[in-house]
Amino acid sequence: MNIEEKQYLVRFNADTESHLKIVNAHICATRCPDKLCTIFCPAEVYKWEGDRMHVGFEGCHECGSCRIGCPYDNIEWRYPKGGYGIVFRLG
Ligand code: SF4
Ligand code: SF4
Repeated sequence: MNIEEKQYLVRFNADTESHLKIVNAHICATRCPDKLCTIFCPAEVYKWEGDRMHVGFEGCHECGSCRIGCPYDNIEWRYPKGGYGIVFRLG
């Protein structure tokens, strides 16, 4: 089973409030030409649209990569509130 097929097995219970936050949007616009979070996030949560970063937090897999992947430490990351977030199907 490839990763795309596995992703169909997970479910999300999205909160109304994002657990991910870009700390300083100006840094994304001016100091990060490659927009690395749009590359390293396996769930494609980050999308550069025009001149701003769209954060589709609802599809986050909570892998934690953006805690260490942003070269400017520009993503505030926490787990979703209890009862929200990704739901893995076991077995
Ligand atoms: Fe902004 Fe960090 Fe993403 Fe670069 S990797 S675009 S600095 S959040
Ligand atoms: Fe993407 Fe993982 Fe960060 Fe969620 S925790 S936004 S899946 S890199």
